[in-house]
This record gives sequence, structure tokens and C-alpha cells, in this order.
Amino acid sequence: MDTELLSTVLAKRKQPAFRERQILRAAQHEYVSGWEAMTTLPKRLREQLTAEVPFSTVKVDLEERSKDGSVKLRMLTHDGFPLEAVLMRFDQPHAKEGEKQTRYTACLSSQSGCALSCEFCATGKMKLGRNLTQHEIVDQFLELARQRQRVGEGRIDNVVMMGMGEPFHNYDEVIAALRTLNSPDGPGLGARRIAISTVGWVPGIEKLAKEDIQFKLALSLHAPNDNLRGSLMPVNRKFPIERLMQACRFYQDQTKRRIFIEYLMLENVNDQPEHAKELAKLLNDQPGQFHVNLIAYNPTGTDFVGASDETVRRFSAILQRADLETSYRVSRARDISGACGQLAAPIEAAKRAQREDRLARAKAKVADTDNAPTPA
Ligand code: SF4
Repeated sequence: MDTELLSTVLAKRKQPAFRERQILRAAQHEYVSGWEAMTTLPKRLREQLTAEVPFSTVKVDLEERSKDGSVKLRMLTHDGFPLEAVLMRFDQPHAKEGEKQTRYTACLSSQSGCALSCEFCATGKMKLGRNLTQHEIVDQFLELARQRQRVGEGRIDNVVMMGMGEPFHNYDEVIAALRTLNSPDGPGLGARRIAISTVGWVPGIEKLAKEDIQFKLALSLHAPNDNLRGSLMPVNRKFPIERLMQACRFYQDQTKRRIFIEYLMLENVNDQPEHAKELAKLLNDQPGQFHVNLIAYNPTGTDFVGASDETVRRFSAILQRADLETSYRVSRARDISGACGQLAAPIEAAKRAQREDRLARAKAKVADTDNAPTPA
């Protein structure tokens, strides 16, 4: 919820100092479902809060469930901007006794739409609506967590900022939201269970390197040279690979942490043995500092096609022979357009909500004029 608004209302209602923490703990740690369910509060206060503080800053518009058990929520902000968040389910067939059999990772959005227009990404086609506030980011997580509770399934284990938007275009709000998710009074997720994924916005990487908190960093590289990367990702014209690697070196020097390289496998585009060798050479400039995640391409209405399993195996083997650790990321929620690159909450839904919002405001204005006292 909007915690500034909550503080103002509690102060206006002359509530004791402990009240805000009590409410936030119930909402963010115990995942209470709404004001009515917060039965530890006096009834009168519950009614006042219901009237004055929306319990969530986002409204779930649509819930879709994938056949792999993942869930996608499409939401709208109060002013009608669409966003999506996905809860990915990973079954752990090799879990040892006492370990969790299923893990859940929440993929959250930092913006409604995105300004960076990567060629393979559906969100990029939406263009930028606006940055999301820290409350709207935390509320995506809480909507997913409450959904878990409703269906009686386990708590969320990890968070990745890999949904709609470039997180470092909205740095301050993203970091503030992640600090809340990390807080013991909030969901209490360990910092190392939280990852931020960037397409290589250098000022953000350098700023994150100086934070006093150990969030993981993932870098969407997708190509080993400027020509190819520039043709896939316009951001490369602003921050070419050499500048990006310089920022990675700075991050690693400051934090002593590895960076996860995300590499989308596109057939006959970036998946050939020469690309693997070039990538290995680039990353081995800083040995042991990178882990490469090869990613399956998920259809986004473009002409790209995903590389075959055989090509991925061959590519991965070249990297491993060069002493790089690799993994191949399994797609989740692909059947409900909830996988990597597929998030693009329909623009029409946003336009409709904005129209309704404008209409409601106009009606309220007319009603105000009608009710205005007649001059004597
Ligand atoms: S991949 Fe990320 S940065 Fe690129 S257009 Fe999509 S959301 Fe934006």
C-alpha cells in the first residue's frame, strides 16, 4: 500500500506509534488479505482505513494459470497503467529429504512498458507508460503472495526484477521496493534471493556496486560483439560492450560478487560456434567472475526463432571448455505469455481504464458544480 498515505491517515486519526509497524507487518509479512481481515485493529479504525487507504496500489485485472503451475497476474495502477507479474513454479525432482519439493520465483515489473525497444521483446513494443512506484512494485509481490495463500501453496522463495521495464531506469524506486522485500518486518527474503536484471544500463550497475546490500546482478548480454548486440538492443549504442565490461569490472572489484550473464539463444543469429568462442574470450578477460545463463527464446510475435536443443548443447560445451560455468534456463509460463520477453499487458486495457478514470473525474466535477451553494 501507499505507506506515506497510511502514515498521514494514522497521524490524523491520532493512532499510537506502534500502529504503523503493526499494520505493515500484518500486510507484508503475514499476507493478511485486506483491512477487514486485520482483526487486531479496532473496528472503527478498520472502517476508516477501508475508506481512506486502498489496501493495494495495484488492481488485479486478470489471473492466468499455466499448465506448468506458474501464475501470471495482469494488473492496473490506480491511474490505469498496465503491468504484469509472474510467479514461476519450479519442481525440484532431486530435492533431498527435508528440502523444499517446489520453489517459487516471483518475476516483477519495474515499469509499465519500456523505453528501450529490444528487438526480441514484447514489452519493448509497448513503449514506456511510466515508472512504477516502490509501493506498486511491492504490491505485485504481495498480490502473488496472497494468491499463494488463497490456493494453499507455499511461500515465495526468490524475486527477480525481470518483468516489464529496465529496473535501472527506475533505480531509486526499485531499490526501495527490494529493501522492503528484504526487511524482516516485510517478506524477509534474503538479499541473495533477490536479483536485478539489466540490459546494461551502466550508471545503474555502478550505483548498485556501491549499495550496502547484496542483491544479485544479472546482465542481459545476448551477443558477444557490438555489431550484433547493437542490431538486437538499441541500448548498445549508448553503452557499447567495452564500456559495459568496464562497469562489470568495477562492480566485481567493489562487491567481489559474480555477475549472471543472460544470453538468449536465437537461431542463426547469435547461436553459432564462433559466437560462443567470442563470448568465452570476452568473459574470460575476468576469469571466474561470470556465470552464463543460456535462455530459450519465447515467441513474442517477431521473426526470431529459438535455437534447437542440439545447438544450445554445442554452444554450452564451447563455453564450458573455456572454463565458464553455464546453465540452460527452462521457460516457465510460456503457454500464458508469461515467459521471458513475453510480458506486454494489452495497451487497450490501459486506454480503457484511463478513459473510465477521465469520465469518472468529469462526472465528479459536474456533481460538485451541481451541489455548489447558490449565491444569495
Ligand atoms: S528486454 Fe527489458 S529492456 Fe529490453 S525492451 Fe524488453 S523490458 Fe525493455
